[in-house]
Amino acid sequence: MPLPFEHTYARLPAHFFAKVRPTPVARPALLAINAPLAEELGLSPTELASPEGIEILAGNRVPDSAEPIALAYAGHQFGAFVPRLGDGRAILLGELVGKDGVRRDVQLKGAGRTPFSRGGDGRAALGPVLREFVVSEAMHALGVPTTRALAAVTTGETVFRDPPAPGAVLTRVAASHLRVGTFEYFAARGDREALAQLTGYALARHYPGVDAAGGAALALFDAVLQAQARLVARWLGLGFVHGVMNTDNTSIAGETLDYGPCAFLDTHVPSRSFSSIDHGGRYAYGQQPRIALWNLARLGDALIPLVDDDQARAAATLTERLEAFPDVFAAAHVEVLRAKLGLVSEGEDDAELARDLLGEMAAHAVDHTLCFRALADAAAVGDIAPVAAMFRDPTRLRAWATAWLARLDDDGGTPAERAARIRRANPAFIPRNHQIEAMITAALGGDLGPFERLRRVLARPYDDQPDAADLAAPPGAEQWSYRTFCGT
Ligand code: AMP
Ligand code: MG
Repeated sequence: MPLPFEHTYARLPAHFFAKVRPTPVARPALLAINAPLAEELGLSPTELASPEGIEILAGNRVPDSAEPIALAYAGHQFGAFVPRLGDGRAILLGELVGKDGVRRDVQLKGAGRTPFSRGGDGRAALGPVLREFVVSEAMHALGVPTTRALAAVTTGETVFRDPPAPGAVLTRVAASHLRVGTFEYFAARGDREALAQLTGYALARHYPGVDAAGGAALALFDAVLQAQARLVARWLGLGFVHGVMNTDNTSIAGETLDYGPCAFLDTHVPSRSFSSIDHGGRYAYGQQPRIALWNLARLGDALIPLVDDDQARAAATLTERLEAFPDVFAAAHVEVLRAKLGLVSEGEDDAELARDLLGEMAAHAVDHTLCFRALADAAAVGDIAPVAAMFRDPTRLRAWATAWLARLDDDGGTPAERAARIRRANPAFIPRNHQIEAMITAALGGDLGPFERLRRVLARPYDDQPDAADLAAPPGAEQWSYRTFCGT
């Protein structure tokens, strides 16, 4: 099977990573191949699904073209610095340049212990692998930058979690696995030379077009700030809660990275967090812009040695750049919200208009996704009634709708065109937490039907799919108390 891996990261100095081979597993078996992604990468889905392909995806066979490595990184976890994390259960096989000319990492997640495993077993369990598969591919279909899932296999081994679970390996594809924590790793060691190399590498790989006249570090910092602002704006627009926005899970390429305890809002509650270990609500839905800013500040700290020999002056320069974040984020956010409201022209009061609707949703515990989607029906008939039906007391919503419908009128187009525009910005389907849990429960019982169905439906999240109405519905009362668990 041709796997034309390249190895630009493995050509960086030896202390950027550890060479490590995947640990073979007992009985690899295929769960899923992502055929469209395989083809984008120039790979044959049939060959990936062959016995030889499955051996590679399980880590039992390392292709000649691979140079397996685990990447070194540090990170702030829930605010506390850990100087050495690294890939404890993920092994990079190499990079593939896709048909689009973009270079991507191909990584086996759950492929065994590495020098960074600390107390961990280097493995992944079936449930979290299927969750990451479905949710990351749904995010892609929703149009959000994200790592992707190329394949999943079971290992035929048990991983000792609570309760014990079947082991699985996810083949993850990413623009790269560079994290804010990668920069922190070298900064903490006072390794200025490595920081400079990493900065040059990241800039060339992810932001080759940016103007670096003011220095590579500042150019990279600005580019990552922009990318993170746009990313978090997209998350908020979909009700997505990442759940563990530590700096080691913050991608330099601006992709959604590390789907551990992530979840989507059903009812619009900005203070909502789902993770069992996020006690203070640090990573709650509405906190995410603040946390992105905090994580960028840590990137800034790491880059200080590259910006100016005078530390104080470097810090002042980076702080000034960081201070752009609130405006950059606000602009990205209002752009998302404007599209969700079906508006084309930019109005002075668009942010306020959106905020008022979100406030009403929160006040009435209305489903985030269904409410925005229903705006399309309202636009089609020129009346807020289809949305008002979701509110116990729609008095304030009706007042809001007068202003909104007037704005829609100003923007022109037929009612049908407006409705179509709103549907393109507001999905009918998101990976709802209770459906993900039901899918995992079924898979643990040997039934992959719900997994396949979720994949199929969530590949077209903006299309009405009447035969999948059950997947668009919010959870019933008995499905409510949802919690996600990290580190699984
Ligand atoms: P995460 O919470 O998945 O972002 O992981 C945080 C750190 O813990 C990273 O360094 C991971 O590589 C490591 N890690 C998580 N799970 C395991 C595991 N089962 N075995 C070894 N290392 C792990
Ligand atoms: Mg992580």
